[in-house]
Parts: sequence; structure tokens; C-alpha cells
Amino acid sequence: SSLAVAGVQALRPYEPGKPVETLERELGIREAVKLASNENPLGPSPKAVAAMQAALGGVHIYPDGNGFALKQALADRHRASPAQITLGNGSNEILELVARAWLAPGRSAVFSRHAFAVYPLVVQAVSADARVAEALPAGADQPFGHDLGAMAALVDESTRVVFIANPNNPTGTWVGGAELEAFVAGVPAQTLVVVDEAYAEYVEVADYPDTTQWVARFPNLIVTRTFSKIHGLAGLRLGYSVSSEPVAELLNRVRQPFNVNTLAQAAGLAALGDPGHVERSARVNREGLRQLEAGLRERGLDFIPSVGNFLTFDVRQPPGPVYERLLRQGVIVRPVVNYGLPTQLRVTVGRAEENARFLQALDAVLAAA
Ligand code: PMP
Repeated sequence: SSLAVAGVQALRPYEPGKPVETLERELGIREAVKLASNENPLGPSPKAVAAMQAALGGVHIYPDGNGFALKQALADRHRASPAQITLGNGSNEILELVARAWLAPGRSAVFSRHAFAVYPLVVQAVSADARVAEALPAGADQPFGHDLGAMAALVDESTRVVFIANPNNPTGTWVGGAELEAFVAGVPAQTLVVVDEAYAEYVEVADYPDTTQWVARFPNLIVTRTFSKIHGLAGLRLGYSVSSEPVAELLNRVRQPFNVNTLAQAAGLAALGDPGHVERSARVNREGLRQLEAGLRERGLDFIPSVGNFLTFDVRQPPGPVYERLLRQGVIVRPVVNYGLPTQLRVTVGRAEENARFLQALDAVLAAA
């Protein structure tokens, strides 16, 4: 193991949640509720499922390595050209491709404390320097959110990538259009700004920017999106980016030739053709978020106001045992200690009955504490 490069030796692996079936078996629980990975509780669009079924008989053929039809549909959706779209094996892969193409030892990347865990991972994997900006304070308008001023202060000539999660996971915080635009305009041309919009479709605040329309003005801007969240296709691994053509062309050089599989391409295309499913998913999320907020308030528990499909709340005690006791109640949430949030847990917004079960389980667990 000592033969690996320094950055990799310093890495702590990403810890995904356990599959429901594993937990049910280990804990002897029936019908556990998984509110742990910010997935869509409604599942995929039936149109996406049908498209996959139709594509199944063709899996002996390699996928379309250029994702022609899906890129065209995404280009239409974002009023861009197909040459500005890059497809990824999840948006995580796009983040990794960015690190591979732009970072190296001696170069640095900037991101915020409490930001999405994959940023340090992809930066350290190429032995580049990770610079972590302090987040906004707990009492701020966006508690624990990105402080773009603090991030800008860490950018120097070695900085080739800045990661901005908007909204951020696990805080659910967001940055407004004017502030973000000023930041992008202010960074040096050699610094690529990655705006990670995995949860964009859930956001309902007026000042949330339409950044995919900015890439024509900012050749060093790349916006990433995913089919894992509102489209309910996390298991397929499909994400994409919108950028200037030169940025897309560079990413295209470092990706694997067939990085997005046949079923994912078919399902993604069909999902884009089912706006009704997206609207339903957003509505269920809006109502569920209100339900969870009200439930946490009733229980006197603080949470970080979120515009995503999850809420991070403060149990004011070591969260590990609370997480374990919730598990034994059959409710799976997510500890966020590795995000620098030492007494918090993150819960994904589920369907009304799942949210109710979570709140009930929380009562049982906190009463026993
Ligand atoms: N960005 C953020 C902020 C996320 O929370 C996630 C999912 N956890 C991703 C990117 C990656 O999603 P995927 O690789 O499934 O597209």
C-alpha cells in the first residue's frame, strides 16, 4: 500500500450507506425506510422503466459512445449545443474527469467546509492540493453555507478548480444569482469554476440562478447536473455537464469511450420526456420538506433550512448512537460527522408516510436517550 501516490495514501474512502436488504437482514427488521441517500421516494418515471425494458435486448451492442440522442435532448433543454454537453457515469464521474484534466501535484482546488464529500476525494486522488474555505457561521442567513468571499480569498495562480455545490449537500444551503455571477466573473480565466447542481430541480427560491445560460459568457464555467435525484435514476449512474465547447472537448479526451451504458442513455432520454414525473416529485418533496420541518420544530430540534430534498438537523448529542437506535427502529438516515457537522444527522425527504415513520422513530429514540 505504501507504493500508492501520496494523495491516495491520505484519502479516506467515501462511505456509502448500507443497502436496505443488508440492514434488514443484520437487524432483523421488516420494511425498513431508507431516507439516507437523497434518492427520489417516488422511484423512476414509468416511461424511463419502459424505455429500459425496450433497450434490454440490445445490450450485446456497445452503447453509443457519443450519447447522440441524449446529448441532443439535453442541449435542447438547456438551449446549448450538443458539443457543450458531457455525459458521465453519475455526475460524480464528471467531477473526477475535471480533477484528472485540470489538477496535478502543485495545483490546488478550492471548496467550502461542509461541502459534498466527493470534492476532497477527487482532488486528493490526483495528489493536488485541497484548500478548504471556512463556511458561513451557524447564525448566518445560510448557516454552514458557502462563503464565496472566503473561497475567493483562497484562489491564487495555483488554483485551477473551484467547486461550488448549489445547493450544497449536506447543508441544503444555496448561493444567489448576483453573488455567484460576481464570483465567476472575478476568478482568473485559468481557474475552472464547477457549479454542482445535483439538486437544482428541487430549488424553489426566486434568486436561484439559471447558470447553464451563463456558459456562453464564461468559458471557464462548468455546470453539473444528475439523473440520480429528481429523475429517480441513481442506480443507473447518469449525470452530465453543460460548459463551453473547449471544456467539454477536454473532458471528452479523458473519459472512457463507453462511460455511459445503454440502459442509462435510454432511461435518461425517456425521463426528459416525462416532465409530469419531475413535477410530481418536486411537489412531494415540497410537502415532505414542510412536514419534516414542522415535525422537527415541534420536537425542539434545530435544522439547517434546506432547498434540497434532505434536511440536516441537530440532535445535540453524539449522533452515532442516535443513528444506531433509529436503525433498530427500521429508519435509515445519514450521519454527517465526516462533513464536520459533529452533532447532526441528515434525513432525506420521503413520502408522507415515510416522513411520519421517521418522526415517530425519532420520538422513540430521543425519549429513550
Ligand atoms: N453532487 C452532490 C452535491 C451530491 O449530493 C451528489 C449525490 N450524493 C452528487 C453530486 C453525485 O450524484 P451522482 O454521481 O449520483 O450524479
